[in-house]
Amino acid sequence: MGLDVNSIRKDFPILEKKIYGKPLVYFDNAATTQKPSCVIEKICEGYYNCNANIHRGVHFLSQQATEAHEAARENVRDFINAGSTQEIIFTRGTTEAINLVASSFGDSQCKEGDEIIVSQMEHHSNIVPWQLLQARKGTKLKVLPFDENGVLQLEQLDSLISDRTRLIAIAHVSNTLGTINPVKEIIRKAHEHNIPVLVDGAQSIPHIKVDVQDLDADFYVFSGHKIYGPTGIGVLYGKERWLEAIPPYQGGGEMIQKVTFEKTTFNELPFKFEAGTPDYIGSTALATALDYVRNIGIENIAQHETELLEYARTKMSGIEGMRFIGNAPHRGGLVSFLVGSIHPYDMGTILDKLGIAVRTGHHCAEPVMQAFGIEGTVRASFAMYNTKEEIDILMAGIERARKMFHH
Ligand code: PLP
Repeated sequence: MGLDVNSIRKDFPILEKKIYGKPLVYFDNAATTQKPSCVIEKICEGYYNCNANIHRGVHFLSQQATEAHEAARENVRDFINAGSTQEIIFTRGTTEAINLVASSFGDSQCKEGDEIIVSQMEHHSNIVPWQLLQARKGTKLKVLPFDENGVLQLEQLDSLISDRTRLIAIAHVSNTLGTINPVKEIIRKAHEHNIPVLVDGAQSIPHIKVDVQDLDADFYVFSGHKIYGPTGIGVLYGKERWLEAIPPYQGGGEMIQKVTFEKTTFNELPFKFEAGTPDYIGSTALATALDYVRNIGIENIAQHETELLEYARTKMSGIEGMRFIGNAPHRGGLVSFLVGSIHPYDMGTILDKLGIAVRTGHHCAEPVMQAFGIEGTVRASFAMYNTKEEIDILMAGIERARKMFHH
């Protein structure tokens, strides 16, 4: 079934906006998605009608807010098909979730000389926390490379895995190359060696049906703002046995059972990992965003974005000097490209003046740029509300930049 994109677009008020007098063409969805009215209204409604600190209050509003927050947890559980709400930890986003695992898992399960494997196409947020662990514990970071098309060289995984490997941390979908990685296969391989796997789902959650039990992921992390939800809220899914085995990440309220100056005992899952007042307005608005996506159907969204991707790639390949960065056969809805020797910032600036929002630069994945020997790319990333007409506008903008730079 095709999407009714015109009707979807009406749900996203910002898409009405004019930029420099031109209709906004928003192709920066991999950085953050726009929000439908229902999500914006849910945030307002939370503060208008349902605002009280959760969990400890006996009063009506506090109980109502607590119920909404815990219902949101159940909503997330259902969305990724986790076995239990105890396995759903609310965080600020993907970055905080990875830092949580790097701290709690890393500090408790890794010793000097132990190894963490990441891929060459990771976002900085799935590199730097492991380097911080390295500085604390003397662990080593090993890197699974990709080939010239941006496909992971899986055949190298066997030789990277050793009896010192403690964790593999890998992006489900690359934010720069668009590559969809075979995480299920990687997890199966890792588990043959009893190695847990963390999947960075920041770029997969809005586009791919995720079933953490089917993947058999040990940890799966994502950000709400990339799936039409608010900023400041994200999720760490962890298998219960891992979350039980590793210590709290931060100390404070909510995460304790009993505190004395001599000894503190910790709360049960999932609260053990949620120190301080949680973003209960954000969690409920995230649940609204997930309902919105459910309603439209993630498979329908994926199909629409694949059509946009194919349309864009076919059209854009006709542009003189076009170079795509990332040519994996299995790709998500984004194109990273360069045209001739036009600097990505110049291209981005010209497109911006035409009302087109693309991202330029290294996309927080400098090792990918280093592998291709480039400084950055221009990235157009698609969402359910984008159209082929918008891609035509992008095409015209690129042609205009090409002519301006005499390419
Ligand atoms: N991982 C990937 C693959 C991403 O694309 C991003 C954001 O672009 C992140 C992690 C970090 O997400 P956040 O900044 O929401 O924590």
